[in-house]
Amino acid sequence: MEDVTVIGAGLAGCEAAYKIAQSGYKVKLIECKPKQFSPAHKSENFAELVCSNSLKSDERATAGGLLKAEMRSLGSLLIKLAESARVPAGGALAVDREIFSHSVTKAISEHKNIRIVNETASDWQDGELTVIATGPLTVGGLASSLERRLGSSLSFYDAAAPIVDAQSIDMNECFAASRYGKGESDYLNCPLEKQEYIEFYESLISAERAELREFDKRDVFDGCMPIEIMAERGVDTMRFGPLRPVGFINPRTERRPYAVVQLRTENAQKTMYNIVGFQTNLKFAEQKRVFGMIPALRNAEFLRYGVMHRNTYINAPRELDRYSRLNRFTNVFIAGQLGGVEGYVESIASGLMAGINVSRVLGGKEPLTLPPTTIMGALFGYLCTPNADFQPMNANFGVLPPLQTHIRDKAKRKEEYWDRSLRDLAEFQKENNLI
Ligand SMILES: Cc1cc2nc3c(=O)[nH]c(=O)nc-3n(C[C@H](O)[C@H](O)[C@H](O)COP(=O)(O)OP(=O)(O)OC[C@H]3O[C@@H](n4cnc5c(N)ncnc54)[C@H](O)[C@@H]3O)c2cc1C
Repeated sequence: MEDVTVIGAGLAGCEAAYKIAQSGYKVKLIECKPKQFSPAHKSENFAELVCSNSLKSDERATAGGLLKAEMRSLGSLLIKLAESARVPAGGALAVDREIFSHSVTKAISEHKNIRIVNETASDWQDGELTVIATGPLTVGGLASSLERRLGSSLSFYDAAAPIVDAQSIDMNECFAASRYGKGESDYLNCPLEKQEYIEFYESLISAERAELREFDKRDVFDGCMPIEIMAERGVDTMRFGPLRPVGFINPRTERRPYAVVQLRTENAQKTMYNIVGFQTNLKFAEQKRVFGMIPALRNAEFLRYGVMHRNTYINAPRELDRYSRLNRFTNVFIAGQLGGVEGYVESIASGLMAGINVSRVLGGKEPLTLPPTTIMGALFGYLCTPNADFQPMNANFGVLPPLQTHIRDKAKRKEEYWDRSLRDLAEFQKENNLI
C-alpha cells in the first residue's frame, strides 16, 4: 500500500510524484495512457508537451526566467531534465520534446518508490492522500466526479480577456469612474472618439486569428463571445455591448465619449487590469497591435493574452486552500492546469509545490506557502484569493506585490523584482530547512 496516489503522469503529476518519492515516500502514479488518450496527447511517454516545445524565457529579469530560477532553487526535476534536452532558442528554454519526455518517463519509471498503474481514474478514494494532476483535457469520469463533489465549480472552457500591467496604462488617456457615478469608481475607462473607434473596429475585424483545433471549437454564445466576432455583427454592436459609453462623461472633454473600453482591476493591489469583455481568439501579436490602438493602451504591457480554448479547471479561489488542497477534501491536492494555473512551467511549478507539501504532510509537518514576493508564492496566492471572475493565471510580474520604493525604469524594476524574490526565497529555504 502506497503513501499517496498521484493521478496523471503529465507535467505536474511527474514533478509531484518524483518530489514525494525522493522524500522517501511510496507513490502510486495512475496514468490513462496508453490505454486512453486525450484529443491532444499522442505519445505513450509521460510529461508530454502537447503543443509548443518552449518553456518560455530563461532570461534574467523576465517573469518566465524568475519562475524557473525559483524552481531550480527548489530542486525541480523537470526543469533539470529540460536543460539536458535543450535546443537553441535564443533566450528561451526550448526542448527536444521526445528527449524531454523520454527522460522524464525514465526517471519516474525507474524510481524505486514509484509504482505506475495504467488506468483511467474516475474518482479518488475518500480519506486517501491524493494529488490530482489530470490537466486541461482530463479524460474519463474524473471530471464528472469532481463536478459532482464540487457542484458548479468546474469549467471546461477558457474565455479569458487579456490582462495588462497597471503601470503601462496611460493614465492621461483614461479616467476612473463607474457608470452613472454609481458606487465606487471601480473601473478605469478608456474613451474613444468616433474616428479612433472606427479605425479600431476595422483593424479588429480584419486582424489575424489563431487557428482553432477541432476540440477547441464550440458555438459562441452571447455572454462569452470573442470581441472580434461581436464586432463582425455590425459597426455599432460593440458600442451597445462592452464598449457602450452611456453613463460616462469624459472629464477631459466634459462630453460623453463615442465608445468606452473598461479596465477592471484583477487584484487588490491594482497592479493588473483586465480588458472587460475582450475575450478573443486573435493571435497574440495581433492583440498587442489592435488593442494597442486604444489610446490608453498604446504602450500596454500584456501580462496575459486573451485565449479561448478547451480547458478543464477548478474555480480555485472558491475550492482550493492556500496549499492547493480542496477545501472540502483536505486530503486531495490539485496540481497543474486543473488547479487554475496556465502554462507548462506553471503546471510543473504547481506539481513541485504539491510534492513538497505532500511530503511535509506525510512527515507530520504543516504544509508551506512560499513568500508572496516570489513568483510562485504570488501566483499560488492569487489562485486562492476571492475573485468573482476567476480565469486561469500564468506567471507574470503583475501578481507580485509592488516594491517598497517605486522604480520608474521598467528594466530596473524587473531586476529588483528578480533580486527580491531570490533573496526572500533563499532566506525562506534556510529557515524552513528546504535546501
Ligand atoms: C492543446 C493544448 C495546447 C497547449 N499548449 C501549450 C503551450 O504551447 N505552452 C504552454 O505553456 N502551455 C500550453 N498548454 C497548457 C498547459 O500548460 C499544458 O496543457 C500542460 O501540459 C498542463 O500540465 P498538466 O500537468 O496540468 O497536465 P498534462 O500535462 O496534460 O498531464 C495530464 C496527464 O494526466 C493524464 N490523465 C488525464 N485524465 C486522466 C485520468 N482520468 N486518469 C489518469 N490519467 C489521466 C493525461 O494522459 C496526462 O498524461 C496547452 C494546453 C492544451 C490543452
